[in-house]
Amino acid sequence: MTPDAYVRSAWTAPHIDSTTAPVLIASAAPMESFDPATGELVATIAVSTIADVDRAVDGAHEALRTTSWRNNGALRARVLNRWAVRLRETIDYFAELITREQGKTVGEARGEILGSIGQVEYNAGLARALYGRAIALNEGVHGVVLREPVGVVAAITPWNYPFNLTIRAVAPALAAGNAVVVKPASLTPAIVTKALDLLHEDPDLPQGILSVVVGPGGTVGDRLVRSDGIDMIAFTGDSTTGIGVMRTAADSLKKVSLELGGKSPNIVFADADLDKALAGAVNAAFTAAGQICTAGSRLVVERSIHDEFMDRLAAKVRAMRVGEGLDPATEMGPLVSAGQKKTVMDYIAIGRADGTILVGGDSLDDAPYANGHFIAPTIVTDLPDTSRVITEEIFGPVLAVQTFEDEDEAVAIANGTQFGLACGLWTTNLNRAWRVGRAVESGTIWINTYHHFYGEAEVGGFKRSGVGRQQGIEGILEFTETKHLNFDSNPNLW
Ligand code: NDP
Repeated sequence: MTPDAYVRSAWTAPHIDSTTAPVLIASAAPMESFDPATGELVATIAVSTIADVDRAVDGAHEALRTTSWRNNGALRARVLNRWAVRLRETIDYFAELITREQGKTVGEARGEILGSIGQVEYNAGLARALYGRAIALNEGVHGVVLREPVGVVAAITPWNYPFNLTIRAVAPALAAGNAVVVKPASLTPAIVTKALDLLHEDPDLPQGILSVVVGPGGTVGDRLVRSDGIDMIAFTGDSTTGIGVMRTAADSLKKVSLELGGKSPNIVFADADLDKALAGAVNAAFTAAGQICTAGSRLVVERSIHDEFMDRLAAKVRAMRVGEGLDPATEMGPLVSAGQKKTVMDYIAIGRADGTILVGGDSLDDAPYANGHFIAPTIVTDLPDTSRVITEEIFGPVLAVQTFEDEDEAVAIANGTQFGLACGLWTTNLNRAWRVGRAVESGTIWINTYHHFYGEAEVGGFKRSGVGRQQGIEGILEFTETKHLNFDSNPNLW
């Protein structure tokens, strides 16, 4: 299928009305979501009350108590595999919905969906491979160490990769035998509700094991975090929100997994393949208009190649085509909301005051951008290390540039923020890649690549970027408790 063939073709209604979506437990007046490129209404979704949240949590416990879900890995694998098939059949529909409700380009949306399907398939396999171990501990004494589901998990997810970041939590949580209540971001509720509805309609998924509640984080999300019926919070979002969630969850000592913000360095050494590094720098900084937690939002360039590299990068970024994500020629879409655009423009003003705007810096307000939230891709140079454009997550298309003389300085700059989510290294020197890769405090180090994710490989944050890991073996283990059954066949106790 050509890109043109799927644009708008999958859309069957002027907007989605999910006031009655079976997976959704919501009885309050509906809210609306809008296309950030055009301002058009995308979806009308019923909002959940506190009583609805409690109903979802109670239903999840009832399902765990009364069905074989937590003990039947083959059943879980079958249900997840069928979900993967259904998601693959509906890629065109979801690509358009993601672009419409979130704003990223339709190519980026397809990438988000394909990555998510990989997560479902990988975790479907793991559902049948969650082994414990047996240990001979003494004469007549044996230990059996089991992995058991935690119980009822609340997955609270953000708007930037709503499809993927919800599925990345839901798939391993279900594969491990838990029940899940999902609270999507209020800017992107339709994407999540529709994707989970596909799973919910599977005849073998027990009623209550999966549900969605919609509404503001401060009320609906907070209720989940405080609920005595929730055993674990899997939170993906802003670092400050995550710290608050962890603090509140501490009152009931809930297990938490936190996937938070970043300010990732993308380090280019003089010995790098510069053509590849240039393409990587654009991808790192401007994918999803910079609204990605792993954005390589700090370009850290060796001084000896700085001028040549920046000239070439500036030319590439100036030529980027900004527009509506459904247009196949678009390379960068809008910001998700007026509020996010204002936040980013405020940071650009700080960049203008602290340094030099090398490229962009403009709010795009005239036709064809007038009804959306567009900003030109922006590069800021000559910034002091203390500038907030260097130290804080912006979550928009703003690339801050730093320079270094030698490897030690590159590492110091890379580690110079409170975050530690991801890092790019561009070098042809294998020994250097090992040294720097080991020295940078970050959950992911991409060497001569950027933004490549695999279901098999863990992601997560050092420092203020998070607690715990998602994806891979460690990702599913986050959703388990370890239990030791100790058997003693000796005739006497002591
Ligand atoms: P937020 O932290 O604002 O929101 C995330 C989710 O938490 C939303 O569903 C939100 O609901 C909810 N929420 C807000 N307040 C509370 C609360 N008090 N209690 C419970 N839930 C609450 O993040 P954004 O949606 O703005 O997403 C952007 C952030 O996410 C960035 O910082 C980004 O770096 C980070 N992120 C991290 C990733 C990672 O893997 N490390 C991946 C992607 C994003 P509502 O929408 O209703 O406010």
